[in-house]
Amino acid sequence: MHYVVVTGGVISGLGKGTITSSLGHLLKSHGLRVTALKIDPYLNYDAGTMNPYQHGEVFVLDDGSEVDLDLGNYERFIGTDLTGDNNITTGKVYKEVIEKERRGEYLGSTVQIIPHITNEIKRRIRAVSSKDYYDVVLIEVGGTVGDIESMPFLEALRQLNREEKPGSVIFGHVTLVPEVGAMNEQKTKPTQHSVKALREIGIQPDILFCRSKNELSLETKKRISLFTDVPLEGIASISDAPNAYLVPDIMEREGIVDFIINRLGLKSKEYTDEWAEYKQNLRNPKERVRIALVGKYTELQDAYMSHKEAFLHVTGNTGIAVDIKWINSDDLKNSQDKLSDVHGILVPGGFGYRGIEGKIAAAKYARENNVPFLGICLGFQVAVMEFARNVLHLGDANSTEFDKNTPHPVIDLLPEQEGVKDMGGTMRLGSKKVLIRPNTLAHSVYGKDEIYERHRHRYEVNPAYIDAFSSAGLIFSGTDEEGIRMEIAEYRDNENMIASQYHSEFKSRPLAPSRIHQHLVMRALLFRQRLLEATA
Ligand code: GLN
Repeated sequence: MHYVVVTGGVISGLGKGTITSSLGHLLKSHGLRVTALKIDPYLNYDAGTMNPYQHGEVFVLDDGSEVDLDLGNYERFIGTDLTGDNNITTGKVYKEVIEKERRGEYLGSTVQIIPHITNEIKRRIRAVSSKDYYDVVLIEVGGTVGDIESMPFLEALRQLNREEKPGSVIFGHVTLVPEVGAMNEQKTKPTQHSVKALREIGIQPDILFCRSKNELSLETKKRISLFTDVPLEGIASISDAPNAYLVPDIMEREGIVDFIINRLGLKSKEYTDEWAEYKQNLRNPKERVRIALVGKYTELQDAYMSHKEAFLHVTGNTGIAVDIKWINSDDLKNSQDKLSDVHGILVPGGFGYRGIEGKIAAAKYARENNVPFLGICLGFQVAVMEFARNVLHLGDANSTEFDKNTPHPVIDLLPEQEGVKDMGGTMRLGSKKVLIRPNTLAHSVYGKDEIYERHRHRYEVNPAYIDAFSSAGLIFSGTDEEGIRMEIAEYRDNENMIASQYHSEFKSRPLAPSRIHQHLVMRALLFRQRLLEATA
């Protein structure tokens, strides 16, 4: 087994996740079998209970695990489906150790960070690596070196390096090389200090991923090599890229993957770039559309990471670029002026009442002006509520999530959620089969009778209202296997609206974009062209 560990230094937000994912993509493109795991040094058991403002979007896997958004990047870049075991948190590690202590499995000993916690960390890493046959396991450590929280993990990785076959663990460290002064001089001191901090805990990096605005000069690389003992070929200049999918090209150019393959003594194949055309479209899109993303975490775009990615996947496959207009739903409640210049509207998932009225106003605006609309999860529920209020004239129609005593609970708690008190990991989660009704828009979009999509919700369309909705023109074209849970909604004879209870953004991949995101973009282009014709 071979491991490539990626740690971070200097500051957070340098794109460690993108670098790890890009490595995974390139190793795979060299014919190697790769998986990736993320270490998150926080005490939460998983990401599910965290506000998206803290760490960005909560990503959902097939097995229903709620994980860090970096796992989404690994899946997209490596083209694989991961499980909850690929996200190790301090919470999971401590919970396990304390439960073992209570069962008496350490009877007689004092339970300590070293060796009990570090052993549990290594056990979890090895459990992932032995699950399948892999050439390389990538391990990304969250946080920055020097954080108290990540210390036990780095110590465990130091031990892993001593215990595994010599030369089978490689440490890569992501640092920042700022450019200062009128001459844009590249400064190596932060990198030197960061490597020093790593060495103090017994880890000598083999690779440095140096983030910088421009490419590192040879002199800068030599200077870094001299001070850090990292060989010159192990120093990769990772300059800014317009989007994450273009980072692998930078790495390939730096020869860093060949360096890793040689260092680990791996037998690899010739590099085949299956993204060539995809990247070409990303670099030179032929068309553009503007799509409003109406949400309540719009100040932090990472909260909607997988939607942004899904749109990039659409661009890579169609050549239509998407300019996202970020709109805080609170701003739409009284005036929808902000929507007057967009060609499509996306209302994504969310929780809680704040911002709901603005989202309902956006759905109403889309329906009345026939603007292409896509609703996802809460956005699906919003479209249903809007239709109930304004077409069925059920004035106070609502979700019981927001108004327990609404006279028209068109969105209601899933029956199995009745009595559920714990908030962690208790929603309807993960991959479920969705049946698609023939002769519907959904069927023409998917071209299939059934699909599997990922879920994360507690509420659903109240079955008592389904007949009323369909007689008025809102039809449910996708359901769960039993046909009792509504999964897809559309307006009869109108291709400009589709909404899903599932999160299609989570399974969108570079060469297989979310079908409904792609549909929104195609309709938006048509909408834009008609607009241009009308004003010509
Ligand atoms: N809050 C809604 C529910 O729990 C929608 C959830 C979501 O958008 N992920 O059903």
